[in-house]
Amino acid sequence: MTASIEIDHRTSAAPVPLAHRKWIVGLTRAQLQAELEAIGVPARQGRMRTSQLWHWIYNRGVTSFEEMTNISKDLRARFAESFNISRLEIVTEQISTDGTRKWLLRLPPDELGRRHEVETVYIPEEDRGTLCISSQVGCTLTCTFCHTGTQTLVRNLTAGEIAGQVMVARDRLNEWPHLIDGAENVPPSGRFITNIVLMGMGEPLYNFDNVRDAVDVISDGEGLSLSRRRITLSTSGVVPEIVRAGDEIGTMLAISLHGTTDEIRNRLVPLNKKYPISQLLQSCRDYPGLSNAKRITFEYVMIKGVNDSLEDARRLVKLLKGIPAKVNLIPFNPWPGTDYECSDWDQIEKFSQIVLKAGYASPVRTPRGRDILAACGQLKSASQRMKKTDRQALATAVSGA
Ligand code: SAH
Ligand code: SF4
Repeated sequence: MTASIEIDHRTSAAPVPLAHRKWIVGLTRAQLQAELEAIGVPARQGRMRTSQLWHWIYNRGVTSFEEMTNISKDLRARFAESFNISRLEIVTEQISTDGTRKWLLRLPPDELGRRHEVETVYIPEEDRGTLCISSQVGCTLTCTFCHTGTQTLVRNLTAGEIAGQVMVARDRLNEWPHLIDGAENVPPSGRFITNIVLMGMGEPLYNFDNVRDAVDVISDGEGLSLSRRRITLSTSGVVPEIVRAGDEIGTMLAISLHGTTDEIRNRLVPLNKKYPISQLLQSCRDYPGLSNAKRITFEYVMIKGVNDSLEDARRLVKLLKGIPAKVNLIPFNPWPGTDYECSDWDQIEKFSQIVLKAGYASPVRTPRGRDILAACGQLKSASQRMKKTDRQALATAVSGA
C-alpha cells in the first residue's frame, strides 16, 4: 500500500508578488553578495549580510525574511520587496511500503512562464539515508533501459532548483539542525539524510555549472553542510567533463557502465558511440584524488540475456583493473513499455561472486520504492504522469519482477 499526503504549502505574506522578486536560493555567496549590493546594501556590509542570510536560509531553513530576527526591520522589509526564498512546491508526496518517499516538485516558472516538474526520492536504510536528486527535467540521452530517457529534455535545473530539493526533504523530514536536536526517532547518525546522490532525472555533466554551484551550496559547512565525500555524482559517461568534474565539483563519482563491450554498451547507453569504453575508463583513471578510501562506483544494471552472462562478469573485472573501484549491481527496474526484463536472482548472485572474488565490493542494490515508481531509472515527471492503463501495466510488471 502506498500513501499520498496533502501538503500544507508554506507561503509568504509579503505584499510584492512572488514572481517580481528574485529567487535567491542557490546563488553562490559571491552572487548573493552582488544581489545585496544591487539593492543598496553598502559594500562594506556585504560579507556580513551574506553570512546572515546564508545562515537563516540554509541552516535554519526559513522561508520568510520576517523570521530573520537579527536583521533590522527596515532591512528585512527591503529584502522582502526584492527577494524570494520560498520552497519548490510539493505537488505530491508518496510513501512506499518500504519507507521510500518520492516527491513530485513544481519548479518556479521559466522565462516563458511554464512550470515544469521533477522528482526527488528519499531512501532510508538502517545505517544511512540517501536523497536522490534530479539535475534536469528529462534527459537528452536515450539509454534504452531508462524511463527518464523516454522523456526528451525539457530543461536544465538551476542551482537553486537542485539544492532546493534538499531543502524540501529537510522540511518534510523535520531535519533542520534546531528541530532535530533532541527530537524523537532520530537515527543514530543524528541525521535522516546522510548521503546525496545525483542519480535522479537527467545527466548532471550536461548541466555542469549549475550542478557545481548547487554542490557548493549543499556542502557549505555553515549551511546544509553535507560533505562532498557524501555526495555522489552519477554520469552515463560524458568523457570530456569527468576530470573537470573531479577538479571543480569534487564529489564522489559513479559511472553508469552497464556493458563490457562497446557493442553491448552502444545498445544500452548510446552515448558510448561517441565516448567508447576505453576512453571512459581512461578518464576514470585520471579522476583526481582516487585512493582505496575514495573509489569510483561502477553501476551495472542487470538485464536478462543482455549483459548478465558470467563472461560479462569476467570481462568487467578485467576492465576495472588498476582503478580503485566498487561495483553496484542494480537489478533492472521495469517500467511500462520496456522490452527488458530483470536478470534472475541466481544469475545476479553468480555474477556478483565473480566480481567479489576479483576483489571488488559488489553489493546488489535492493530495489526500493518500486511500487511508487521511485526506483532507479523509473523517474519520469510531470506533464507525463501515468495514464491508468500504464499504471496497471506497471503493477503487473513489478509484481512479476
Ligand atoms: N544520468 C545519470 C544519472 C541518472 S540515472 C546516469 O545515467 O548515470 C541513475 C542510475 O539509474 C544510472 O546508473 C542508470 O543507469 C540507472 N538506471 C536507469 N534506468 C534504470 C532501470 N530501469 N533499472 C535500474 N537502473 C536504472
Ligand atoms: Fe539519462 Fe541517465 Fe537515464 Fe541515460 S540513464 S537516459 S543518462 S537519466
